[in-house]
Amino acid sequence: MICLLPFDIFKTMIFEEEKYRFMFAALQEAEKALEENEIPVGAVVVKENKIIGRGYNQVEKLKDATAHAEMIALTAASNSIGNWRLNGCSVYVTLEPCIMCTGALLASRINDLYFSTFDTKSGACGSVYNLVEQGKTNHKIIVYSGIYAEESKKLLRDFFIKLKSKSKLKFTPPTA
Ligand code: ZN
Repeated sequence: MICLLPFDIFKTMIFEEEKYRFMFAALQEAEKALEENEIPVGAVVVKENKIIGRGYNQVEKLKDATAHAEMIALTAASNSIGNWRLNGCSVYVTLEPCIMCTGALLASRINDLYFSTFDTKSGACGSVYNLVEQGKTNHKIIVYSGIYAEESKKLLRDFFIKLKSKSKLKFTPPTA
């Protein structure tokens, strides 16, 4: 897959096979969110070619605005290695991270971020903001996008179609 993006920090490249494998694992996490009627976003943290943390969006279930996939995956990864510093780790997430998650990714000191599809409403890695590119933080993250972008978009589309049809049902006046 060729990734062409208008930002210098993004690379024009063909991704290696393992990158698809890890993003597929993130997609599987997103599917769990979909099954639980959450916005389907999934994430995994990878260190030395092994997944050390997984997470999917659980904002509704946990009634917690911070329960985004990336936050849960970062916590799981830190617990797994017993260290909040995730140097040398890569994060794979099915949607461009928001401001909160980008902040957490920077604070965790991860090396690379791979996200599938852009979030044009609240993405903070190129869409609405570009916190990783501004160069104002000490830590730098290399960002790539585009792996399984269509699959991630489809999951999100399916969720919002389902939500729309549900709300239609809710507001349909009862027939006599
Ligand atoms: Zn987020």
